[in-house]
Amino acid sequence: MEKIRFEKTSAPKPKFDVSKVGFGTVFSDHMFIMDYEKNKGWYDPRIVPFAPFSISPAATVLHYAPEIFEGMKAYRTPEGKVQLFRPIENVKRMNISAERMCLPQIEEEMMMEALMEIVKADQSWVPSEPDTSLYIRPFMFGTDEQLGIHTPQHCIFSIITCPVGSYFREGINPVRIAIEKDDVRAVKGGTGYAKCGGNYAASLRAGERAAAQGYSQVLWLDGVERKYIEEAGGMNVMFKIDGKVVTPALLGSVLAGITRKSLIEMLKSWNIPVEERLISLEELLDAINNGRLEECWCCGTAAVISPIGELAYDNKKYIINDFKTGSLTRKLFDELTGIQWGKRPDPFGWTVPVV
Ligand SMILES: *Cc1c(COP(=O)(O)O)cnc(C)c1O
Repeated sequence: MEKIRFEKTSAPKPKFDVSKVGFGTVFSDHMFIMDYEKNKGWYDPRIVPFAPFSISPAATVLHYAPEIFEGMKAYRTPEGKVQLFRPIENVKRMNISAERMCLPQIEEEMMMEALMEIVKADQSWVPSEPDTSLYIRPFMFGTDEQLGIHTPQHCIFSIITCPVGSYFREGINPVRIAIEKDDVRAVKGGTGYAKCGGNYAASLRAGERAAAQGYSQVLWLDGVERKYIEEAGGMNVMFKIDGKVVTPALLGSVLAGITRKSLIEMLKSWNIPVEERLISLEELLDAINNGRLEECWCCGTAAVISPIGELAYDNKKYIINDFKTGSLTRKLFDELTGIQWGKRPDPFGWTVPVV
């Protein structure tokens, strides 16, 4: 691979109080960029001052949305070191998303090196206050100046980073979630398993309707029968029913979350049974009505674990576990965040030191 060229900023930005900014509103000093041309492959990998891109108004991404992304974090340990959490999983998933969207693959070592180098370059931006981290956003899009519908032959891959505070002010707090009856997020054969921008664009309308009713997120049903639970469209979902943890299986329309995968591995190591399978809305509502749904939560990199305190469907409201964080939810949160921030031992070998 070509050596990454480094153009250091001549105007470093002042640091700020992470507790006072929203998620992803203030960016660090540098960004990683490399370009792609079909006959040339990836070229000119570089770390440069954070600045706008210059692309044609005809760029493919602006019209037909060939865009994919990843989301991960760099964590400051109690010793002041910086580490990543299972970065190779993000690298592999980026290539899975790229394959679905006809975007070019990136060699795993190349993307790992880019991640390590951008975090090293802006290591002073990794905050150290409790529950804070440096959010890392790798993304790729097609830039061909051509309106005909086609597979992109020119692309940009970039990584930007931003210091983020705790997703929730008082640590983990139960949220209210609306189960969506009309719109769907994804179907098998579509792009649900790919982390692509278009999935999010199409989900905004349901999110707006839910927000107007006071719900923080939407829980999606399957796109064919509106019968099975899928995910929260930015987070996966898990239910503890009769002592077992049940989570929707990955059948093409659900995103394979790395937090989901890690929680499953953790639960299994504690000998708590986990079932990855279809779970129908009917089964879920029955479990709530019979008092068999003990706890449920959403999980994803940004908020880690978000307990669900209320579910709404068809103008009915269901309160879960008295709107309190369940004990297993809490235990999973404490253990996973303990590993991510280097406060607890990492028996799984998930963390990767950067500096
Ligand atoms: C990113 C994402 C998740 C969570 O994945 P993690 O790897 O755990 O952060 C879940 N669902 C969707 C649709 C996502 O885009």
